[in-house]
Parts: sequence; structure tokens; C-alpha cells
Amino acid sequence: MTKTANKITNKRLKPVALATSLTLIALASLSLTSCSNVDLGLDSEKSNVIDDAKLNTVATIDNTITLEQITKDVTYLASDELKGRDNFTLDIRQAADFIAKRFNEVGLTPAQSAPKFKQHYSVQRITPDTLTVEINGQEIPNESLSMATTKTDFSWNNSAQNSNQSITSHPVNIVMISEDDNMRKSLRELNNQGGQHLVLLHPSHEESFKRYQSYFDQGLTKLVNKKATEHGGVIVMALTDISKVKTFSVKGNAKVTDTILSNVVGILPGKSKANEIVLYSAHYDHLGVKPSLDATPSSKAAKTSEIFNGADDDASGVSAIINLANHFAKMDNNERTLMFTAFSAEEIGGFGSRHFSTHVEPTAITAMINIEMIGKPALFGEGTVWMTGMDRSNLGEQLNQALAPQNLKVYADPYPKQNLFYRSDNATLARLGVPAHSFSSTQLDKDQHYHQVTDDINSLNLPSMLQVIKMLAIATTPLVDGSITPSRIDPNKVKRNGLIY
Ligand SMILES: [Zn+2]
Repeated sequence: MTKTANKITNKRLKPVALATSLTLIALASLSLTSCSNVDLGLDSEKSNVIDDAKLNTVATIDNTITLEQITKDVTYLASDELKGRDNFTLDIRQAADFIAKRFNEVGLTPAQSAPKFKQHYSVQRITPDTLTVEINGQEIPNESLSMATTKTDFSWNNSAQNSNQSITSHPVNIVMISEDDNMRKSLRELNNQGGQHLVLLHPSHEESFKRYQSYFDQGLTKLVNKKATEHGGVIVMALTDISKVKTFSVKGNAKVTDTILSNVVGILPGKSKANEIVLYSAHYDHLGVKPSLDATPSSKAAKTSEIFNGADDDASGVSAIINLANHFAKMDNNERTLMFTAFSAEEIGGFGSRHFSTHVEPTAITAMINIEMIGKPALFGEGTVWMTGMDRSNLGEQLNQALAPQNLKVYADPYPKQNLFYRSDNATLARLGVPAHSFSSTQLDKDQHYHQVTDDINSLNLPSMLQVIKMLAIATTPLVDGSITPSRIDPNKVKRNGLIY
């Protein structure tokens, strides 16, 4: 962190200097006006009214986006009080209340789909309970079994006496993954197809199997909507050297818990292009509290709890959207409607944005600026930012035109192999054609704090974060004032989500 923090260049300091001088000019003209009022002999009460009105209109980026305020916001969101903002806890509701309060304070109004700023939706948590598998009359031991299911109960078999059962209505696909097959790829294909699969996995894949097993054991989360019954399916995996299936019998069931989650959504109605929306977003959920092994084996408890504060991921992004909302509310010249959304359930599958996307007309969204992990300097230096999927629309190019006069730019994602375009909420909107990109400054390849308990407020570089937020305000001003309209993303080029896990 410290090394990159030294890389401040004069170029990068320019916008701040420029904005500061604008403030001075504005303040100078304000004081001149006040003086002339006095000179004209206006009564003091009236001149005070004029002064107040003037003061309200003097909004500059330096007083709408301040280090003090972003520090306050990110510090609270990343505080131990919110216990890591786990989706299935009361703590995340407290975080939502805070964001709603801040949206209200800065002057947003609730979106239609979000009374009191809260957009509620329900998800189901489906956790495997029991599973028995018999192949060719041989029972497969429990430790060699695993399943991912969106169904609560299922029973498959092809033994003679039961051949008329569920198989006819829901055929079971038997898949062999042999020693030479790519297990990950094979499973991904099944996940994309949906349906019911019995997978016989060669013992050479044991190591990968264990990883999938512990992932699937945690259960799946599904958005509850009308289409839920059409989608989904079951993958049952058996680690075995059996390579020919004559008979099989599989029985499984899963426990279901329903939970209500919320996105927080506020808007700033557009002045002349109210039907065109610029969406600013970030996710406010994180990993919560996880038990971890105690360092001292002599300890009786053996386990202690640690809080994943998620200061960078993504309290930083949420603070950004709150303060961008404040900036544009105070500027009070947005021709387009601005929508600010804090998503929940990003860390567990992006359900917040998936639900959100069913409550907006995608064609009405001109662009989505999703902000993810901007709390520490990018590899390009302090205060720099990059975006995912830069070549999928011309948004980046257009933003860079706005930044060019100040020798600033948004860089292209330096980690294309990490698939970051797909690893945040922007992907859901991109699948609907929205120029939806994530803006970040994380050095993901080196970040020691990523998804660790050390991702706390002390690991952030707040002045760098401030610069990024200001830069995003400047870069997106032509979107806000309606002077640029980026090209749409081709939805056919955006990979779909799997149907099962
Ligand atoms: Zn994140």
C-alpha cells in the first residue's frame, strides 16, 4: 500500500486543484454579491435571504464530496457493530437502515419499487439434508457423495418394479466423468442445462470432489420468483470406480429456509430526461462473522469468531454512491434521473441485483456505474480507477473524453483473466443489454486483505478513495447532464448464469 501511495503525480492532483480554484471563484463572486447588496441599501433581513439562497447554490465537488464525510460513512459501514453485514442476520438490516437514512439526508427520494428506500425480496436457502445412492445394488458411502439441489425431495431409480416413477416426467441424465475428463467443465455444462443428473466421478478427481462437496454442503440460495419452478435441478455426485450403471436408486431431500432481504434504492428525478436513468450501485453485504481455528491448541474453546468487516469490499463502494448522490443532489442539474442502489446478496450469488433487474425497464437504463472495492490505490497509482468490460460498450471511451481536459483517465481492467466483469452485480444488467460495468481500484492479484478479516478500515487509503469518487463524479457528469449516451452491451456476448448452483 505504502509503495503505491507514493506515486502521486502532478497530473493526478490537477482536478482537485482545479476544483479548488473554482470554489474560490464561486466564493469570491458570492462575497461580491453580498457586498453590492449592502451597498444598494437592501434591508439586512432581505439580504440574508439572498445570501442563504446563494449559499445553497454554491455546490462544488470540494464541498459535496469530502474526506470527512466519506470517512464517516465507510467507517460506520465497516465497523464491528455491523458484524460484517452477513445477508442472513439482523446486522445487515442495520446497515440498510443506515444507507436509507443517508439517502434521505442527501436528498434522494425512494424509488417506486422501494418504499422507504427498501426494496424487499425473498430468497430460499436450500441445504442438503439426506442423500442415499445405490448403484448396481451397491450402496455408495456417504463421504463419497455430494449434491447440489434446488428441489426439496427427489427419488430416482430404474429398477424394474419402479420404472414408471418420476423418470418418465423428469428424466435422469447419467454422466460419467472419467480420469481424463475436465470435471469443472463437465459440471459447468450440467449447471447450464439444469435438470437432473447423476454424476459418477472417477476417484482420481477426489481432491476437486472434496472442494465441491464442502461448497455444496453449505447449500444453495435461490431467488423466489415465478420462474423458480421452471429453473433449477439436481446434481448428485458419487465418487466411485463404477463405470457401467445397470440399476440405480437415488433418494435425497433438502431443508428450505425463506429469508427476506432488501436492496436500498433512492432516486434523484431527472429535470428534462426523467425517463432515462443513470444507475450508480455498490453492494452492501459481506461475509459476516466466521468461526476460525484458535492459534493456541491448548484453548478449550478451540474456536473464536472473527468479523469480516469488508471495508474495501464493498463498504468503500457504498460510501461512494452515498457521496455521489450528495454531489449530484447539491449540483441540482441532473437532466437524467439518477438512481442509487445498494445491493444485498452479492457475495452469495448476486440475488439483489437479479431481483432489482426485474423492477426496472432495462432499456431505460442509460448506463450502470457499479463501484466495487475502491478503498486502496490501483496499480496505476493513488486515486486511479479501472473498469471491467471496457471493450463491451463505448462508455469508457466517453468517460475518458470527459476526463481528458484534466489529464485523467479510467483504465481498462488489468486482470482480464480474473473474469471480474462477471464477479459483480453489473453482469446481471449487462445480460439485459445495459452498458453496465464495475469500477474498481483493487489489486486483486496481490491484495492480502481480500475476503479476509483484515479487510478493515485500517487497511484503506481514504485520500486515494476520495480522489476516485471525485473522478467518477467528473467522469459521469456528461451522463448525468444527458450529453453522452453510451452504446449498449451485446447481451448475446454475456455468459448466462448456471441454473442449479
Ligand atoms: Zn465485492
